[in-house]
Amino acid sequence: MAYIINDACISCGACEAECPVECISAGDDKYVIGADACIECGACAGVCPVDAPQPE
Ligand code: SF4
Ligand code: SF4
Repeated sequence: MAYIINDACISCGACEAECPVECISAGDDKYVIGADACIECGACAGVCPVDAPQPE
């Protein structure tokens, strides 16, 4: 289980700095979450302006 960033992502980068385990990084067309490291804290979803990070 992990959070996944969906296609609504506008690559603003806000979530990257909020992740306590630093598992979010910029991808080709959106930001991506490293599923193995994600602890499902929800911090990324809390700062996202478009609600792109969602629980898997
Ligand atoms: S849910 Fe928490 S641990 Fe998982 S990517 Fe978002 S901020 Fe990082
Ligand atoms: S905060 Fe939301 S829109 Fe911004 S990079 Fe993260 S997932 Fe994408």
